[in-house]
Amino acid sequence: MDIKERLARVSTFDVKPDFSSLSLEERRAISECVQASNTMTDIYIDQVSSRNRGIYETLQRRSDSEGKDLFSYFMIHGSPWDGYNHDEPFVPGIGEKPKFGSFYPDGLTKEEWNVWLSKHSEDHEQFESNYTVIRRRENGLIAIPYSEEYRDRLNEAARSLERAASHLSPGKLESFLRLRANAFRTNNYFESDMAWVDTDGNPFEVTIGPYEVYFDELLGLKASFESFIALPDKDSTKALAKFAPKVPDFDYILSQEFSFHPKGAAIPLEVVADVIRGGESSFGAMFSAYNLPNDRRIHDLKGSKKVFSRTMMEAKFSTIALPIAERILPTNLLDGCTFDNKLLFVLGHELAHGLGPSKINSNGREIPFEVALGDLHSSLEEAKADVLGTRLLDYFRNQGLIDDKTLEGIISTNLLGFFQSWVMGFKEAHARGDLIEYNWLKNSDAIHYNSRTGSYEIDPERSLDTLSRLSTEFLKLQVAGNYENAKAFMDQWSSVPEEVPGIIKSLSDIPTAVSPVWDLSGLLV
Ligand SMILES: [Zn+2]
Repeated sequence: MDIKERLARVSTFDVKPDFSSLSLEERRAISECVQASNTMTDIYIDQVSSRNRGIYETLQRRSDSEGKDLFSYFMIHGSPWDGYNHDEPFVPGIGEKPKFGSFYPDGLTKEEWNVWLSKHSEDHEQFESNYTVIRRRENGLIAIPYSEEYRDRLNEAARSLERAASHLSPGKLESFLRLRANAFRTNNYFESDMAWVDTDGNPFEVTIGPYEVYFDELLGLKASFESFIALPDKDSTKALAKFAPKVPDFDYILSQEFSFHPKGAAIPLEVVADVIRGGESSFGAMFSAYNLPNDRRIHDLKGSKKVFSRTMMEAKFSTIALPIAERILPTNLLDGCTFDNKLLFVLGHELAHGLGPSKINSNGREIPFEVALGDLHSSLEEAKADVLGTRLLDYFRNQGLIDDKTLEGIISTNLLGFFQSWVMGFKEAHARGDLIEYNWLKNSDAIHYNSRTGSYEIDPERSLDTLSRLSTEFLKLQVAGNYENAKAFMDQWSSVPEEVPGIIKSLSDIPTAVSPVWDLSGLLV
């Protein structure tokens, strides 16, 4: 695929936030946060690979047409590797994507890591911290805190956040910004993560810092910097709020089945409109929703906050999902493919991440799922969130919160989601989990591809029943924590069904991804 073909499959769209609900001081505060957000991008460029900045600067200088295209595509991925196409290198001569960014020294292996830690037990805490990089020093390894490694830029971001706070009246957001600035300097994120859960998107949402560890494919430990600034969507947030009180009851039912201690914690939900993204969240397959922080101590103490980006969900839905629906669903199912139903599906998915057991009890010792299941965990957890989320939505129907027709529509949007992820490949965590779901649905005759009409027939009640059984299967695998059994199950069910590659080929003129063009001119005062 040449660079023009790659660019042609990305649909750009303008994001022009409406700041009219904010006061002058609040707008000043948000523009300081935008500064801090840009600093996150700057740090992230260095986290991707030690060579990344050099590649960025070389491409930026090129004035020929190919060079300009390569630079545009680099700015969509934040790297010379194409996240929409199996991470293929798209800059000539660049080689394979590094397994672990610049978090570890070149050539480090798991064996070397394990040997080092077995001989230096005092290093465990700093080495396994999400917020340190590992370097070689005099034939040995050392851990350097992010606050040192990125000191100047984190100081700059901290000052931006403090100036933002000074424009706001005392409150939850103002307090979070000050604590986060402090975390950037001290490398201790706990207190500010706790404070962030209490922020409710007012007067605006700020998520900023090192969060996800996806980029560390070696050990899944090191967090990438990212940021997300957004304005509250009060109507949509209100529409989702009615579901939250029912969630602890559902968790209680699960706790009876799988004997764990139900959480019962409050579940803050926020729907927002994007202002700007920075760092990891501004590149590649941009998230539609997230559930943070990842710190389990905070989950136990106060739960986690779920944020839904209406901007990104709507763009993906209208540009990718709907055109796919028009190709592969019969007309009678198209009515149910609405944005509101998609939003409910994502709601179920994100809530489900926080439900059910999360630890394995092994001889009185508690081990988190990801430790026992290693590289299988992400696919398993994402697929579990889909199917347990659907079971939760079915529970909402039984409680009279949604009707049959809505649930039917949600089931159809789930099928579209499979194809949305498969057009980028089958290896990524969500894509692999989707294969398992699809194969179960197909095996139970809940879905059927009619090759004559070129569209799917869906039996909604059978789908619900199948997905509910599958959620039990996933939870059992997680609770058992047996790597070999989980692997056997996933290998058995994650083969690519014979009809799928042909269908994907027929969708090749539909964009695979959307890319926002930020317009902050409304912020100028
Ligand atoms: Zn998820």
